[in-house]
Order: sequence, then C-alpha cells, then structure tokens
Amino acid sequence: RAYNFNAGPAALPLEVLERAQAEFVDYRGTGMSIMEMSHRGAVYEETHNEAASRLLKLLGNPEGYKVLFLQGGASTQFSMIPMNFLTEGKTAGYVMTGSWAGKAIKEAKLIGEVFEAASSKESKFMNLPDLSNLKLPDNAAYLHVTSNETIEGTQFKSFPDTGSVPLIADMSSDILSRPFDLTQFGMVYAGAQKNLGPSGVTVVIAREELLQDSPKHLPTMLRYDTHAGNNSLYNTPPSFSIYMVNQVLKWIEEQGSLEGIEKKNQEKAALLYNAIDNSGGFYRGCADTGSRSLMNVTFRLASEELEKQFVKESEKEGFVGLKGHRSVGGLRASIYNAVPYDSIKALVDFMAEFQKSNG
Ligand code: PLP
Repeated sequence: RAYNFNAGPAALPLEVLERAQAEFVDYRGTGMSIMEMSHRGAVYEETHNEAASRLLKLLGNPEGYKVLFLQGGASTQFSMIPMNFLTEGKTAGYVMTGSWAGKAIKEAKLIGEVFEAASSKESKFMNLPDLSNLKLPDNAAYLHVTSNETIEGTQFKSFPDTGSVPLIADMSSDILSRPFDLTQFGMVYAGAQKNLGPSGVTVVIAREELLQDSPKHLPTMLRYDTHAGNNSLYNTPPSFSIYMVNQVLKWIEEQGSLEGIEKKNQEKAALLYNAIDNSGGFYRGCADTGSRSLMNVTFRLASEELEKQFVKESEKEGFVGLKGHRSVGGLRASIYNAVPYDSIKALVDFMAEFQKSNG
C-alpha cells in the first residue's frame, strides 16, 4: 500500500476496503452487490439506517438530531444553507478563516446579506480568530464556521456559544477525528471523502427543527425538508458511498470510538510536528502553533525548488500527496483517521534523510 497523504479523496482503512471487497459481489446473501440493489428494498434500507444511527451513536445520541445523506458535496451545502436559512430581513455571520470559509461566504453572498463575524485575514490565515466574545446581531440567521481549514492547515480547538443563533460548521476535513459536543451546533456537515468514506455522499447532521419548513420557493432537491421528510430517500441515494460510510463508522467504533481515534490522531500529529519543529529550521510549519491542525500538516522548505525536489524524491519512495494545495504552495501531509501511525513514521524518517542530503 502507498503511504497516502492525499487531502481528499483520502486514505481509507485497509480493513474497511478488505471487508467491502469480501462483500462486493454478494451482499448479505442476496447474490447482488449493494450497488445493484433497489434503494427501496429492505436490505439497502437497513444499511442506510444503520449508517445514520451509528453516526448519531458515536456523537452520544443527543435528542432531536437527524442525519441526512445528500449529494453535491460540501460545496452544495455552501448554497443550501443560505437558501434554506438566510431569509428576508436576516443576516448570516461567517467566520473567515481561509480558502474554504471564503468559498462558503462567496456562495452565501449570492443569496442574501452576510457579515464577517471574525477573520484571520491579517495573519494570512495562519492563525484562527478568537471567537470567545463574538457579538451577533438579533437578526442573525446563523453563524458559520469552518472547523478545519484543509488548505492552510488550521483547526479550531473549541467553538463559541452562540445562544439562540444556530451554529453551523463545515467539518469536511475533521469530522469524527475527535469527540465534539453536537448539542453546541444547529448543524454540521461534511463531504465524506476525508474521514467518512468515499466521495459521492455528503453528511448533514442537524437539529430537527432546522430541517422543517424550508422556504416555499426553493427547488425540491435543495430543500432540507424534502430530505428530512423522506429519510434521505427522496431520490436515488449514493448507495455504495453510504454503505462505505457505514463500514468506516464500524471501524471507528473498533478503534475505541472518538476518544480512541483522538488519542491516535494526537500521537500521529505530534510525531510529525515534532519532526518539523526539531529540524533546526530546515522544515518550517506554516500555521501558528496554537492553531495547528491535527489533520492537515502544512510546512515549507527554504525554497520552492527544494520543495519540488522533496515531492519528487518522496514519490520515488512511495509517498503520495505531499505537495501543498496549488493556491498556497509548500508541502502538506493530510493525516486523517485512516492514515496509520507507521506511514507517518516512514515520512518522518524520509524527512530526516532528505535533510541529511540537502541541509
Ligand atoms: N470544505 C472543506 C473544509 C473542504 O476541505 C472541502 C474539500 O476539500 C470542501 C468543503 C468541499 O467539499 P466537496 O468537494 O465535497 O464539495
């Protein structure tokens, strides 16, 4: 297996892939692959419901929350959220933390009035704004945050108390990487392709009252009430992706649930950040220490030329995906849940060798 540090789609646990392989052509004795069967049949529906209930169970089964399995990626949520909630006379707050928050804001501005509740633009998004004293206007429809900026490599450690204003989080790149209190949020959402499974399904978890009474003029597929009212089976769901999400959730349970996963993620990130910090300045972490992401580790070398050489040589050694996002350059190792500790150990060893030859 490759040492896979892709930002997304990203590595999946080997056990999950092998289990899916074993069931691939004959799922639960039906003589069919799950992707060949009707989404209206009992076998599919059981898997679909199992995935939703496992997800809520991992989050402590708080009362009044519902899971939706949607399509169109997290990017479609950037539009659906304001379309459903940012109604006449209201304004929506956004925390501007970098590339993905910026995309969410751009879409919301197409729909209605938006205000920037906080921003870390001054630091070029290398740290995160303090959200402890936010003042939200009375007509705020919601406050939107990006829990982990995949491109810049920053991650919130905690979230603000927004009182009666629903807090909505794009958790695409760190959902289920650690425990979190779902009851602090009105809604969280994530494209599945980093920590939850393959691409093709977007998971939304929201308080039930937010999923009712979407504005009447909205198209059927863009209304939360359509999907909530039909158990995410209004139209054909991405059934294979949802099946894979269920497998990944089962694997997370086996890792000691979110507490177990968090511990592993902390160990993995510490190994890599320590290697960067103890390199005598040869490698330089991009994000400020207090805002560093445990999922996307961004770092630089002294020149772009040296970075290119690093990527080239790493690829020869079986490492994949270490080039930084094209918009910011540098290097990035995405170390989501499924990336094993041993892959990071191999990377740290490679980094030491590379420094020896080029330092
Ligand atoms: N939000 C974040 C934080 C992301 O990292 C990504 C994708 O990388 C997206 C949103 C967009 O997700 P999708 O490609 O599912 O639309």
